[in-house]
Amino acid sequence: MTNPLLERNELPPFRAILPNHVVPAVDQLLTANRQEITKLLEDNVCDWDGLIAVIEALNDFLSQSFGPVSHMNSVVNTPELRDAYNASLPKLSEYQTEMGQNADLFSAYQSILTGPDFDTLDQAQKKSIENAIRDFRLSGIDLPKKKQSRFAEISKRLSELSSQFSDNVLDATMGWKKVVTDKSELSGLPENALGLARQMAEQNDEKGYLLTLDIPSYLPVLSYCENEKLRREMYEAFVTRASDQGPGKGQWDNSEIIHEILTLRKERAELLGFRNFAELSLATKMAQDTDQVIGFLTELAEKSKPAAEKEFAAICEFAQNEFDVKEINAWDVNFYAEKLKEHRFSISEEKLRPYFPEPTVLSGLFEVVRRLYDIEIEETKNIETWHEDVTTYNITKDGITIARFYLDLYARANKRGGAWMDDCRVRRITAKGETQLPVAYLTCNFSAPVGGNPSLLTHTEVVTLFHEFGHGMHHMMTKVTCAPVSGVNGVAWDAVELPSQFMENWCWQEEALAFISAHFKTGESLPPEMLEKLLAAKNFQSAMMTVRQLEFALFDFRLHLEFDPNLDDQVQTILNEVRNDVAVVPAPEFSRFQHGFSHIFGGGYAAGYYSYKWAEVLSADAFAKFQEEGIFNRQTGEKFLTSILEVGGSVDPMDMFVEFRGREPEIDALLKQDGILE
Ligand code: ZN
Repeated sequence: MTNPLLERNELPPFRAILPNHVVPAVDQLLTANRQEITKLLEDNVCDWDGLIAVIEALNDFLSQSFGPVSHMNSVVNTPELRDAYNASLPKLSEYQTEMGQNADLFSAYQSILTGPDFDTLDQAQKKSIENAIRDFRLSGIDLPKKKQSRFAEISKRLSELSSQFSDNVLDATMGWKKVVTDKSELSGLPENALGLARQMAEQNDEKGYLLTLDIPSYLPVLSYCENEKLRREMYEAFVTRASDQGPGKGQWDNSEIIHEILTLRKERAELLGFRNFAELSLATKMAQDTDQVIGFLTELAEKSKPAAEKEFAAICEFAQNEFDVKEINAWDVNFYAEKLKEHRFSISEEKLRPYFPEPTVLSGLFEVVRRLYDIEIEETKNIETWHEDVTTYNITKDGITIARFYLDLYARANKRGGAWMDDCRVRRITAKGETQLPVAYLTCNFSAPVGGNPSLLTHTEVVTLFHEFGHGMHHMMTKVTCAPVSGVNGVAWDAVELPSQFMENWCWQEEALAFISAHFKTGESLPPEMLEKLLAAKNFQSAMMTVRQLEFALFDFRLHLEFDPNLDDQVQTILNEVRNDVAVVPAPEFSRFQHGFSHIFGGGYAAGYYSYKWAEVLSADAFAKFQEEGIFNRQTGEKFLTSILEVGGSVDPMDMFVEFRGREPEIDALLKQDGILE
């Protein structure tokens, strides 16, 4: 095979992957896999090496081939690539459903599970078989033929709908821009953001300043721009993306897609014997049932809301006293919150930015993990990437390379917003008996270097980078060699954010900040008085942020628990009810937040957004052990490495946590971390 998508064991040849390769390559791969699996089943091989290892290799080859396409679709999107990607999705979904409903394959797995050799398998192998049996059931293996084909139809349609949802959000985001020629309209906007807006204008052959809905452009306007009219205009454009409201009204409207997604998810859940999609979602998660999730979120809301109300009242009072502003609208909150923060702590994200040049932050991050896990990270050259801004690294332990990663830090056109880690290669043993090293994609959307200076990060961006790197550690430090439970694979969704949120803690430690920060001109670390203020401001409005996350989590969970396709306008109704219960900032009538809620409609967080808070309890409680024993305590680091990072999805999350902590997690650890509980 000469198709560049199909080269084995090399890192992906990104620049050689062309949109017109994709569909033929996918067809070819799926046909080859189908033939191979049929042959295996005809031969009636029912042991690990003869069957499961072969299937694992086929699946790995498939994901190594399509992975780069999917990644490039997110980070260097073009209409041609998007078409090819979207044309492939139904094929892949069909293949997955077919495998999940393959009765012969299922009985082969079952005979291995109940066979005499099962006990000779290692923990990871056993777990991967148990997961596979569970997933066969969740793919409708037990259903009569007619219902199976309906199930397949639903799965295929759902994967198309998710992709359309994300495309609409991306198009709506890129579909809005504003040129400002009068600088006074941007009064208050920090130098960095002004520079970016000027650069954007130049790149687009415009005069003056160009504003977009990308976060590095949008957020500074909301946080610092004194021009209330402009803040409102951008806020409205942002929260109405892909909806029936706002400037792009109706153009990329996700309303019907949302309704269809929810309807089909419910139908799929019911086919499998669940009452609703929320129950189906929990079948693979750490949380035991829907009552437990609602109870968990409600308890957190009850404990946080009074503090959040006080925080919001403080903003309103401050705006009234200092600026004579009587009414605080949603588009004013960030602005006055920043002003209040500066007033109270005389600190702002912008004042901190010069202390966090990207190269220092990166080397500081690498130093943190060196101290914790005794690993070295070095930049590598001459590795092919998809964009000139991307850098690549090797991770070594005792002089041996154990993993690699790509780092794509800057926002640009045709790149999906937000930050994430994705896997490029998973750790496993190949058919030749070689260890395939894990490789990760780490993607952020920070502002690119402006005017010859390095990219200067806000402290929030530093935290984001540490967060994603925590996911990367989980993926890359694994010792498991069985792909379905290696790294982040097979980890219960509500435990996946444990290693990432855990890493954030080092951004708040004096001992670590000493080398994570250095002024980009003078090289001095964050001065003691600024450090003190940063730490004092850490929990500024943490209760407001908590209730905001709880609003998203409860909306998502209740929506998937209660949705009834026959009721009108239920999405907005549930959102309004949740806001009524937990929100402290009133949302304007035109807000259509749900139309851009890609986590649950375009990604994998459906009936799972609660996972962030759930895992935050785990991560806060895990970090508390480091606070007790020393934040760079090598033994504690080693214990975290061996109990949590290395085992990936091969151990149940609760067992994993208890192994590390010596007991089950406690909710108060999170409330203490956020300063909500003394
Ligand atoms: Zn995360």
